[in-house]
Amino acid sequence: MLELLFLLLPIAALYGWYMGQRSAKKDQETVNNQFSRNYVTGLNFLLSNQQEKAVDLFLSMLQKQETENQIATESQFEAELTLGNLFRSRGEVDRALRIHQGLENSPHYSFEQKLLAKQQLAKDFMMAGFYDRAENYYITLLDEPEFAVNSLMKLTDIYQKTKEWKKAINVAEKLLRIAPETDKTPLSHYYCEYAKSLPNDEKQYVYSLNQALSYSPNCARASILLGDFYLQKQQYSSALGYFEQVLHQDADYLSEILDKIKACYVALNDLNGFELFLVKANQVKHNSSVDLALVEFIEQKDGIEAAQSRLYQQIRQSPSLITFHRFIAYQADEAEEGRGKESLILLHKMVGDRIQNGFHYRCFHCGYQSYRLAWHCPSCRHWESIKPMQSIDEIR
Ligand SMILES: [Zn+2]
Repeated sequence: MLELLFLLLPIAALYGWYMGQRSAKKDQETVNNQFSRNYVTGLNFLLSNQQEKAVDLFLSMLQKQETENQIATESQFEAELTLGNLFRSRGEVDRALRIHQGLENSPHYSFEQKLLAKQQLAKDFMMAGFYDRAENYYITLLDEPEFAVNSLMKLTDIYQKTKEWKKAINVAEKLLRIAPETDKTPLSHYYCEYAKSLPNDEKQYVYSLNQALSYSPNCARASILLGDFYLQKQQYSSALGYFEQVLHQDADYLSEILDKIKACYVALNDLNGFELFLVKANQVKHNSSVDLALVEFIEQKDGIEAAQSRLYQQIRQSPSLITFHRFIAYQADEAEEGRGKESLILLHKMVGDRIQNGFHYRCFHCGYQSYRLAWHCPSCRHWESIKPMQSIDEIR
């Protein structure tokens, strides 16, 4: 029933236009009677599920009227445009395309009306997945001030989908020039993606990542990639400088690089510096991975007892599954042989399995969960919205 009602929407739009025409042109009785008969026939086609025939009939009605009037009216144009949009909104892109192409090719419509038709055609092609066709239409519309911002936004969508990062950068930078309030986060990730596509061009790689940081100083991804770059070159101080930026850019991502930060401090023979960093990190924002790294560090430095005491304190303050897992391991190690120890070992395994098998990342925007970190959410298409769960203390 709902489907039937939806089918009637285009007819309602068409009929509204028809009624307006009729009141304005009472002297066209004969034409209108013919129109009325065709309208009923079209409706019958729809009711008997012959949608293709109905669309053909309605289109021919509109085009016939257009020819008879010689000059197409504004309302007729709008009726056809709306009809096409309605078909697209219900996924019938081929019909939407036919209607909008008819408008674009009609000799009766103005330049401005054809621009509107082109914009709808671009949307039709986007929906059909013909990105190159959509791209051509949006490029055509770039010179029109009224359409420029929307076209640039749509072009960035297209280049994101086709992973043409250089083009995405060019378009996003143009967009920023005419709409400076645009969010710069996507542009910083286009630069990161572009850098990753040129792993052998070191100069361009570093330049692109610095561009990402200049557009979005909080782009943790660019800092991590630059840190990785210098770590690989064994330039530990530089690497550390970039890795530690993440603490103030977005501390949630620290869990991704704690091992690398430790490796830098070890290489620089500065373990006290590492401890200091961990303490500072937890003051900025609590993170269970930092808790665990700190406990491990204290165990190596001051022994198991000190580490256990620290861990117990952490669990009381901010309980999380991963610190609890470590706590049970300590308890199992200390327990005397017997049923108690066996139970603790079993519990340790169960909690470990839960951590291992659970999702480790979650999009705070749409709730999408994954096992791997992705900078672009495949579900809601937001950049930087997927975070490690242990950082946001969701594994509890
Ligand atoms: Zn999402």
